[in-house]
Amino acid sequence: MTDTAQSEQVEQVEQLESLDPTTGDVVGRHPVADAAAVAAAVARAREAAGWWAALGFEARKEILDNWRSVMARRMAQLAGVVHRETGKPHADAMLEIGLAVDHLAWAASHAKKVLGPRKVSSGLLMANQAATLEYLPRGVIGVIGPWNYPVFTPMGSIAYALAAGNAVVFKPSELTPGVGQWLADSLAEVVPDGHALLQCVHGRGAVGDALCRSEIDKLAFTGSTATGKKVMAACAERLTPVLIEAGGKDAMLVADDADVKSAADAAAWGAFSNAGQTCIGVERVYVHEKVADDFLRELIERARSIEVGRSADSAYGPMTLSTQTDVVRRHIDDALARGGHAVVGGADAVQDGFVQPTVLVDVPEDSAAVTEETFGPTVVVNRVPSMEKAVELANATTYGLGGSVFSKSGGPALARALRSGMVSINGVISFAGIPALPFGGVGDSGFGRIHGEDGLREFTSPKAVARMRVKPVMNLTSFGRTATMDKNFGTLITALHGRATQLPKLPKVPGLRNR
Ligand code: NAD
Repeated sequence: MTDTAQSEQVEQVEQLESLDPTTGDVVGRHPVADAAAVAAAVARAREAAGWWAALGFEARKEILDNWRSVMARRMAQLAGVVHRETGKPHADAMLEIGLAVDHLAWAASHAKKVLGPRKVSSGLLMANQAATLEYLPRGVIGVIGPWNYPVFTPMGSIAYALAAGNAVVFKPSELTPGVGQWLADSLAEVVPDGHALLQCVHGRGAVGDALCRSEIDKLAFTGSTATGKKVMAACAERLTPVLIEAGGKDAMLVADDADVKSAADAAAWGAFSNAGQTCIGVERVYVHEKVADDFLRELIERARSIEVGRSADSAYGPMTLSTQTDVVRRHIDDALARGGHAVVGGADAVQDGFVQPTVLVDVPEDSAAVTEETFGPTVVVNRVPSMEKAVELANATTYGLGGSVFSKSGGPALARALRSGMVSINGVISFAGIPALPFGGVGDSGFGRIHGEDGLREFTSPKAVARMRVKPVMNLTSFGRTATMDKNFGTLITALHGRATQLPKLPKVPGLRNR
C-alpha cells in the first residue's frame, strides 16, 4: 500500500478526541473501534490468554512485577496524563496510581496461594477419594472503566484478572482514553513476543456494548448503575457473566463519642476531594445531635479553606464531565427549595465547570440531594437523635457501596449494621487502599468483588476434582449396589446426622417411632 493510500485509510477511522476539561484543549486522539475491531482484539487476546495461562503463577508474577516497577518509576508521567484528561490535581493522581501499583503487587504475589491447587477434605462418606480444588483462568476478560479514577478503578479488575491468568480487553472511558492506552502500552513493554495481554478498544458506549456482545469470558464493569443494567442485558445474550461496580450514596455516621475534629476532617476530604467525583465519597453525614454543632463548625472551617482551581496543585479541579454540573445544581436547588440551608457554598457554587464546596443542612430525606448520587463536591449533614436513627436513614437508599463510622466505642457494631459492602471506622475510604479487602457493593451499587482473595477468584472458574485413592467398601455409584449396602448406608447417615439438636420435636403419631 502506498503512503497516501495508507494515510487515507487511517483518516477513515473515526478518532476519539480526548479533552483537557480545564481548557477544552485536545490532548490526544485515539482510533474508535468498531465491532469488527473489538472482535479482532478479543481474538488476539484469546491467543495471548493461552500463552499466559500456560506460563504458570511464578512466570506471570515476574512479568507483572516488571510492569509494576515500570509504573512506579514513571508514576509522574502517568499522573500527568491523568491530570490532563480529568483535571484532577497531580498529587491526587499520584495517590491513585500508588494505590493501584500496590494492588498489582498484592494480586501478583497472592495469586498462587489463593488460586493454586489444594487438597480439600473428602469427608467420611467419600473417604476413599482424594479431593482437589483449583481456580482456573476464565480466558479473556472485558473491562469497561469510568473516568473518575481512571487508573485505580480499572486496575482493580485488570490487575486481578491478569494475576489470575487471563488476558484483558479494556474499554477505558471516552474521557480518559490516554490513561487506558498508557496502561496497555506500558505492560506491552515487558511482555515478550508481542503477546496481546492487555489491549484498549476506544470509543463511547457503543464500543462498550460491542465488547459486552463479543466472545469474552467475563465482563467487569465499573460505572453508573444505569449503564450497568445495559451491560448486564447485553451480556445476557451470550450468558457472559458480569461483575458490576456501580454508583453509591455513601453515608458517614458520627456518634456522640466520636473524635469530632477527625470526623470533620475525614468528611471534608471524603466529600470534596476529586471534586466529589468518587463512588465511595461521603455524600451524606448523619451526626448525633449532641455533637452536631461542634462537627459542623469544624467541617465549615475546613470547607471554607479549600481552594478550587485549574492548577495541578489545587485542592481539587473542575468537574471532569461537564454535564455533571447540571446534576449538582439540581440537587442543591432542590435541597434549598425544600427547606434545606447551605452553610457553605449553595446556589452560586456551580460556575464555569467548577463547583465550590457546599455543605447543606436540614435537608429533607426525600430530596434528590439525599436519594440520588450527586457525584459533586457537596455534602448533606443531617442531625439525628440516636445512632439507631442514623443507621435507619443511612440504609434508606437503594445503593449500598461503602460508608464510614466515627465512634470511640461503637464502631464495629455500627459498621455491621450499615447495608453496604465496605465500611471505614474512624477513617474514610481506607478500605479501598487495603489490597486484601474485597471491594464492591450491594443493591444498586452492584455485585461481585474486585481486590483481595474474592477479587482474584472473580476472574476464575473453580475446578473440582475427585480422584479415587482406594476402592470403596460400599460402591454406592454402581448398579452393583446391594440391599445390604443401602441398609448400611441408611444406618450410617442416621448415626452421623440423625441426632441434630436444633430440629423441633415432632408430635407423637401412633405407629411412628419418634426421634
Ligand atoms: P458511565 O456509566 O457513564 O460509563 C462507564 C463506562 O461505560 C464508560 O466507559 C462508558 O463509555 C461505558 N458505556 C456507556 N454506555 C455503555 C453501554 N451501553 N454498554 C457498555 N458500556 C457503556 O459512568 P461514568 O460517568 O464513566 O462513571 C461514573 C460512575 O461510575 C458513577 O456512578 C460512579 O459512582 C461509578 N463508579 C463506581 C465505582 C465502583 O467501584 N463501584 C468506581 C468508580 C466509579
